[in-house]
Amino acid sequence: MALKKKTGKTARGIIASPGIAIGKAYVLNTFHLYLVKHSIEREEVSRQIDRFHSAVEVTREKMVKTAKESVKNLAENMSYILHPQIQLLKDPTIIDATVKNIEKNLVDAEWAVKDTYDKLVARFKNIQDPYFKERLRDFGAVIYKVLQTLTGKESDTLESVKDPVIVVAHDLTPFDTAQMSTNKILGFITEVGGKTSHTGIIASSLQIPAVVGVKNITSLVENDDRIIVDGISGRVLINPSDEEFVDFNRKRVNNLYFDRELERDAGLATETKDAVRLSLQANVESSNDISAAVEHGAEGIGLFRTEFLFVNGRSWPGENEQFEEYKKVAQTVAPHPAVIRTLDLGGDKMPWVYKDEPEPNPALGLRAIRYCFENRHLFSAQLRAILRASHYGDIRIMYPMISSVEELRKANSILAKQKRELKREDIPFNEDLKVGIMVEVPSVAIVLEQFAEYVDFFSIGTNDLIQYLLAIDRGHEKVAHLYEPLHPAVLSALNMIIKTANRTNVPVSVCGRMGADPLYAYLLVGMGALAHISMESHSIPKIKRFLRNISVAEAAADVKKMLGMSRVRDIRRYLIKQVSPVLDDGLISEVLSEDYGRGIYR
Ligand code: PEP
Ligand code: MG
Repeated sequence: MALKKKTGKTARGIIASPGIAIGKAYVLNTFHLYLVKHSIEREEVSRQIDRFHSAVEVTREKMVKTAKESVKNLAENMSYILHPQIQLLKDPTIIDATVKNIEKNLVDAEWAVKDTYDKLVARFKNIQDPYFKERLRDFGAVIYKVLQTLTGKESDTLESVKDPVIVVAHDLTPFDTAQMSTNKILGFITEVGGKTSHTGIIASSLQIPAVVGVKNITSLVENDDRIIVDGISGRVLINPSDEEFVDFNRKRVNNLYFDRELERDAGLATETKDAVRLSLQANVESSNDISAAVEHGAEGIGLFRTEFLFVNGRSWPGENEQFEEYKKVAQTVAPHPAVIRTLDLGGDKMPWVYKDEPEPNPALGLRAIRYCFENRHLFSAQLRAILRASHYGDIRIMYPMISSVEELRKANSILAKQKRELKREDIPFNEDLKVGIMVEVPSVAIVLEQFAEYVDFFSIGTNDLIQYLLAIDRGHEKVAHLYEPLHPAVLSALNMIIKTANRTNVPVSVCGRMGADPLYAYLLVGMGALAHISMESHSIPKIKRFLRNISVAEAAADVKKMLGMSRVRDIRRYLIKQVSPVLDDGLISEVLSEDYGRGIYR
């Protein structure tokens, strides 16, 4: 008797690549490798080390081959994601450590690889930052491939797919994804993965809708089930009803048209209905991301997060290595400017680098500029590298997590010292390089006027500003529902910052996530004149489209009304009512989602 099909189930996940895909499921059969610890004699050690090295080499060759074959599928700027993965096969964190493990513990190659990786995972297990979690997953994917080579067990591959399908898998590596042909793979769903997953970035580049982090999806779905991947709300519908099917098919077609329109309009000016000219910029983590950002319509880089330079390599990058990267930024983004933010390490960003023990309160601890003052050599080298790069384009410096005028003055005096030294050494730099601060600590917001004489610009970091204003750990799942951008105190603080900056004639921008959501962007532009709004580059076309449909004068009048409201629920209702008439069907806002305002704010 045929098994009865499960119908009408819905599962939730995280949108890794937007869009809607409808098709039949193909459940990819990857398996867990169960390994047993085999002890070896000392004479066996060199043979196991040779086995390990040759498995690494075979894996590397396979990956290089895949990367070469994928280039034709992928946008040029995407293949950079694959090469660092290949480089991981040279990383001593794994290679040298595995060899030592075989020698010291007298175990076979398979066990040594697994054990070395497990120890790495244990060391990093408290890290909340999604970017770092993702890098750990990259390691995991590569290790899995080495183990497959060592054990000779190959799992199911996408090559066996004949008809167009929706792939359902526990996990997919960026390599698996890069091989996907859009004729055969309509969309995919995985059980693991987060927003910043490289697998998702590649899927977006191939324009394959994807939802990741869907718990137990491989057990909920059977081969040939009818599936809808809703990469707009982050849902997966398993065997949907006929009405749902028709409804989503209509949405899918609309979406395709909408995306095409957005792409077509990416180069247009961001001008509102009442002729206010706005400028949208991109937040990036590598010089490799800049050309894609410019293609999406970015007029510069509003936030270059340098901390990722410090975790990609094996050791801290020195002045020269940083200089080369910042120089590339300056040259690639020209004629636009790029704001390079000095190190924002600490908090949830790689605390293990400088502490064996986790801090009791990392978000309030030795983070960002505080860490830089404690590690002066590191800070000075970074400032010198940025100054040297400023000779090659419009580079600006921004300090994170400033909380007092004294800190700002101290940072500026260290910068002045670096300038004097470069002058003495006859090394060119831009003497008028602009310097700004992140406004993300409430103390700065309250007395912002006092900072005006020491800076050329302000940039509001809404992510941290909300965290510190509301005393909500931004990475803590259990209090996530209290992280509330529409809280009256948040709106009031933002309004005060923007108005004070305007009054003191200091250009002010926004680089936190609020700027990437159309409904929040409406509030921000209604609060006063913004120099730039900077966001993840894929959000630029949709925010541009939205801002071209609104009037700043109307937004300002609405903001005035909302600032008088004391309840999130009322602010939200009013905002939706005012914005809905100008909101295109395809635009997504978290304010509109069904899950908005869980808990106390509902
Ligand atoms: C912010 O805090 O809003 C911000 C943009 O910086 P980060 O997310 O890197 O802390
Ligand atoms: Mg911040």
